[in-house]
Amino acid sequence: MRLSRYLIVLMTFNLVTVQANASAIEQTKGNFQDKFRQLEENLPTPNDYRNAAGEPGKDYWQQQVDYKIDVQLDEEKRRLSGSEIITYHNNSPYTLKYLWFQLEQNRFKSDSVAERTSVFKGVNTHANNSVNARDTDEAKAFAKIGLRQLRRQQFMNDNELGYELTSVTDKKGKPLKYTIVGAQMRVDLPTALKPNQSTELSIEYGYNILEEDAVGARSGYEHFPDDAREGGNDIYLLAQWFPRVASYSDYEAWHNKEFLGSGEFTLEFGNYDVKMTVPSDHIVTATGTLQNPSRVLSKVQQQRLTQSETAKKPLFIVSPKEALNNESSVVTNEKTWHFKAENVRDFAWASSRKFIWDAQGYQQGGDINPHVMAMSFYPKEGGELWEKYSTASVIHTMEVYSRFTFDYPYPTAISVNGPVGGMEYPMISFNGPRTIWHDDESRTYTLSEKQFLIGVVIHEVGHNYFPMIVNSDERQWGWMDEGLNSFLDGISTREWDTSLDWGREPNDIIEYMKSNVQVPIMTQADSVLKLGPNAYVKPAVALNILREVVLGRELFDFAFREYSQRWMNKRPTPSDFFRTMEEASGVDLDWFFKGWFYTTDHVDISLDRIYKLRLDTSNPDVDYERRRQSFQDKPMSLAVKHNKRDGYKEWVEMNGDVRDYHDENDRFSVTNKERNKYQKKLAGLEPWEKKVLDRALEEDKNYYVFDFSNLGGLVMPILLELTFENGETESLMIPAEIWRRSPQQVNKLIVTDKDKVLVSAVVDRGGETADVDVENNYYPRQIIQSRIEAFKSKKRKGNKHRDIMDDNKQELKTPEVKAKKK
Ligand SMILES: [Zn+2]
Repeated sequence: MRLSRYLIVLMTFNLVTVQANASAIEQTKGNFQDKFRQLEENLPTPNDYRNAAGEPGKDYWQQQVDYKIDVQLDEEKRRLSGSEIITYHNNSPYTLKYLWFQLEQNRFKSDSVAERTSVFKGVNTHANNSVNARDTDEAKAFAKIGLRQLRRQQFMNDNELGYELTSVTDKKGKPLKYTIVGAQMRVDLPTALKPNQSTELSIEYGYNILEEDAVGARSGYEHFPDDAREGGNDIYLLAQWFPRVASYSDYEAWHNKEFLGSGEFTLEFGNYDVKMTVPSDHIVTATGTLQNPSRVLSKVQQQRLTQSETAKKPLFIVSPKEALNNESSVVTNEKTWHFKAENVRDFAWASSRKFIWDAQGYQQGGDINPHVMAMSFYPKEGGELWEKYSTASVIHTMEVYSRFTFDYPYPTAISVNGPVGGMEYPMISFNGPRTIWHDDESRTYTLSEKQFLIGVVIHEVGHNYFPMIVNSDERQWGWMDEGLNSFLDGISTREWDTSLDWGREPNDIIEYMKSNVQVPIMTQADSVLKLGPNAYVKPAVALNILREVVLGRELFDFAFREYSQRWMNKRPTPSDFFRTMEEASGVDLDWFFKGWFYTTDHVDISLDRIYKLRLDTSNPDVDYERRRQSFQDKPMSLAVKHNKRDGYKEWVEMNGDVRDYHDENDRFSVTNKERNKYQKKLAGLEPWEKKVLDRALEEDKNYYVFDFSNLGGLVMPILLELTFENGETESLMIPAEIWRRSPQQVNKLIVTDKDKVLVSAVVDRGGETADVDVENNYYPRQIIQSRIEAFKSKKRKGNKHRDIMDDNKQELKTPEVKAKKK
């Protein structure tokens, strides 16, 4: 029995732990697992562009693309037409013969890869092989299609979508050769663009704006047919609205991964100069700073805007009442709004006459950008919910995120309500939550909508940090923007109000991690089965655990801030994140990133059993007596018990004369031979050995051996809580490295003072590690508390079960019949 090897261990502390490695040998053949294998072999080789520390290397470069755009919104046709002048700066060490563009609007053409590869998920494969097929065929449809899906199909049928390019020319107006490949375009340059050179080209284009509610496109218009204006009103949220140059990087060259819908946008930093011409009664908001307020805003609006810069609460620039008046406005002329933005990786805007506009200056301090305008734009449908929480959430986001990263570097931070549930762009975000309108002309909102508004504003404004400033490649690695951002939005929502329950805690990922729809976090965004848990919650929880459990806040926060600052306004990859976190924290985290980001393993540590051991004295007079005691304590067999109950007498009881030496001296009797052996053993001990043994015997401590198994596969620290007979508890954290030689099963020796008797133990009582099966964490096991519901049996379904004899007696209640009655 391998337990004996523990008995020579010397203890000096009140509670000392010593690792057993007996099970290590068991895994060197067959099912060998190396959970602590170094991550380096999965990561790209460091080079002068991005180095082994996870920093931008000494020759780091990135391209710059500047845009000057003039665009017109045709409200009647719901069409955008524009012309853009693009200045492409080639900062790479390579010569470029062509430029690739992303034409995301083409994703909505019927021949796009995305449309052609959309799959139908409505088939009920159980319906036709059911045992009661005859009944259920009538009752249960073979397939289901949502009205939403039908609406989308009808919209796609009825509308000509995608970009129409009218010209692509060079600086002198000479047409350039271009080739469209799905939602991408290659423009051939007449002369190759050498390193450190720039080139200018122009594109004239137009496209029909999508109805966001019909299609789901991260941008588009929303129609309000009931507004007091003939034809109603629209809100326009405009994004991916101009042909954008694709990214060209040191690690992938041109990023030619076509937009399929899930993988978001990977772009270059640049400066934008944008003029939008819209109906003159529209309010426009956009990435950047408004250049011509005196041309587009009234005197009063300009005054209010100045006041709001130093206001303590958001002030209305356009009040709810004014916005309501605007809703019925009819104009024929237009206004041109002019915005500029520096060093941003994208540009989005919104336009509507429905907008209420509030603003408040956020004094963030610091030398670089001490003052930021936090603003919200929303229709009356946003109501009090938006008035109370939107701009406040914008400011809260900057307060929290900047603490973890860097000062917010932009002049504005904006939240706009519209048909997009939540989507981020530099300085501007689109957020969906609304109030509910009632017949008594009141508006209410649910708790869930309140949570959603605060959470989504924090999330989308938070995206400024990841991936708008720390410019990660979200088309490839959704988690680098969603995961890092969800980690921080979790921290922010907890700091806003813990009861908000935004859901980035370890328990929130358990169902996903034990499911069979899980893929590794490192999967490309469009191939992920469940984007929410995969790209948002799991990485957020992983980082949460890394911070709270594995590294602790001090080490984690230092490393995370280091990563943010290293890659501010630059383009990191996953390896840069992994390397920085490890290098800056000083802790080997390869096992953690491997397990959480590269596998579908889950956490399930089981505390299988605990042994309590007592150190043998080696003195046969003592040890044999102890063994006799435990032999006598063994329960009597049932047959012997029944014999006694039924009055049977044993032969030896009835015939006393058959008793002999063995009846006088039981199997635990000590012989002189054994006593001599003991004396010989004592004499053979070195003085220090004798001292150690004497002390151990005197202290007579409790030796507890814990038997843990790792059922989930993911190696994690063991958070152990011990409860003793006197009611005291003690917690200890066993680092994940305990699994390094034997990732499936380990034993751990814990020694306590004699009077410190263990009564129970539990692994991860607080639910800190996303352990999917809590039942096996308790030793001894616990009764599972749950609930049981009484239910009424369902009525039979199917055509034959209808009571048509009675059902036909009912009167018809169509609107026509009802109207006649009136
Ligand atoms: Zn997001």
